[in-house]
Amino acid sequence: MDIKTVGVVGAGLMGSGIVEQAARSGYRVVMREIDDTALSAGRARIDKSMVRAIERGKLTVEERDSVLGQIVGTTDLDDMADCELVVEAIVENLDMKKDVFRELDRITCPNAILASNTSSVSITALAAVTSRPDKVAGAHFFNPVPVMKLVELVRALQTSDETIKRLRAFGTSMGKNVVVAQDTPGFIVNYLLVPYLLDAVRMVESGVATKEDIDTGIALGLNHPMGPLTLLDYVGIDTTLYIADVMYEEIRDPKYAAPPLLRKMVNAGYFGRKNGRGFYDYSGGE
Ligand code: NAD
Repeated sequence: MDIKTVGVVGAGLMGSGIVEQAARSGYRVVMREIDDTALSAGRARIDKSMVRAIERGKLTVEERDSVLGQIVGTTDLDDMADCELVVEAIVENLDMKKDVFRELDRITCPNAILASNTSSVSITALAAVTSRPDKVAGAHFFNPVPVMKLVELVRALQTSDETIKRLRAFGTSMGKNVVVAQDTPGFIVNYLLVPYLLDAVRMVESGVATKEDIDTGIALGLNHPMGPLTLLDYVGIDTTLYIADVMYEEIRDPKYAAPPLLRKMVNAGYFGRKNGRGFYDYSGGE
């Protein structure tokens, strides 16, 4: 069963990026949001991202117009009926994701693959609510999706080799390098990234160095594009806390225990770039 039409549920930060990249890779895409306002916001995000790609010479105006013609927006999940693959990218909430997977299982044809872009929810638990657990897997993209070259496929206990093979081909066709991880908290990248970010927060907390010096030390000493505190502001302080809490709950290793400063920042509403204040102040713009 060839993948021709891809469904994407949720057109937030990640979903809109997956929609754009799938359409730019030649797929017809059905994009579902909860209401017209959220759908328009998703479209606006895609438009803005493609304007940036045009300005950088990565896309022509004609290509953009043809890509937009391949995207169908809807608020009705039943419109996913023709999709051979659906990627779920709604908010990080297990019960809400389970509801979407139950519905998708009812709506799509039995051979369609159902994937989740989750960063921390168990794929095994999502697969278990469907009647096709062998056709459920994780497809964890990175932000911004059109730019970042990686997709981590996540293999639930029930996922078949055939499903991984089909998803690997899909990821490659999207211009991504594909890696495969078992369904463990954090998969490959966050398993290593989260303790590193939390240690950077602990360093600020204990006054080992200033946040600027920690960032400069890592950026120049390890040749990273940015230091950990700048990265935390990009990822989102709230998102990082949520992921760390889920990982700690599952693994019970203190290296995943969120330091008090991270939780205090979330309580204070310092979420990072997305709302103008994190470790750094963005209230004056970028
Ligand atoms: P987001 O809040 O930007 O977007 C979520 C969107 O889902 C919202 O627009 C919301 O209206 C919509 N939504 C909620 N319920 C829905 C439903 N039932 N049907 C359709 N749409 C629905 O969140 P995000 O940052 O794009 O994250 C989405 C998923 O991707 C999460 O599982 C997250 O863990 C994962 N993820 C995030 C990142 C990141 O850097 N932000 C990276 C990799 C994976």
